[in-house]
Amino acid sequence: MDTSAATTRYLIGLGSNRYRGGPPRRTIDRAIDALAARGLEIVRRSSVVTTPPLGPGTRHYANAAILAQTDLSPPDLLALCQAIEAAFGRRSGRRWGDRILDLDLLLWSGGCWADHTLTLPHPALAMRDFVLGPLGEIAPGWRHPVSGRTIRQLDYHVRRNMPVDRGPNRP
Ligand code: AMP
Repeated sequence: MDTSAATTRYLIGLGSNRYRGGPPRRTIDRAIDALAARGLEIVRRSSVVTTPPLGPGTRHYANAAILAQTDLSPPDLLALCQAIEAAFGRRSGRRWGDRILDLDLLLWSGGCWADHTLTLPHPALAMRDFVLGPLGEIAPGWRHPVSGRTIRQLDYHVRRNMPVDRGPNRP
């Protein structure tokens, strides 16, 4: 597929905290490959950070983010992400459990979007250090369309309250 004319940009968050065919950080790599194989142009990708579980999950998460270009609309890209999650073996139903793969649309170049399946920017974006850290590596100057703050500014404010484990203890 020729993606050279794609003009819409998305920031996508990736997370995994279960072994399946390899450790979580390998799942992140394979998920990025899967998105590229389905036509997304991967413009930039962050490193993978390790974060403690949120909610009742028990294992640490591997988290990363990518900047990608595509002509897909937000709902079509969400459908693609959900198909890839399913192909990786994620079962739906449990919102906060352990996960083989979680793909979230975080921001897009079109500003805000809201329908019955999707909200952009992602509602939890400005509260999560494990999302803002990787985003800060690849798009520090991207502005949140509602608050007007850059990713760098949001990351700074969240990090003053919530430390993130960026140490060598990788899943
Ligand atoms: P989660 O279990 O956290 O991956 O949430 C998945 C659900 O959140 C799906 O039903 C989506 O329709 C919905 N959703 C709403 N906004 C977003 C978004 N920006 N990115 C991904 N999923 C979203």
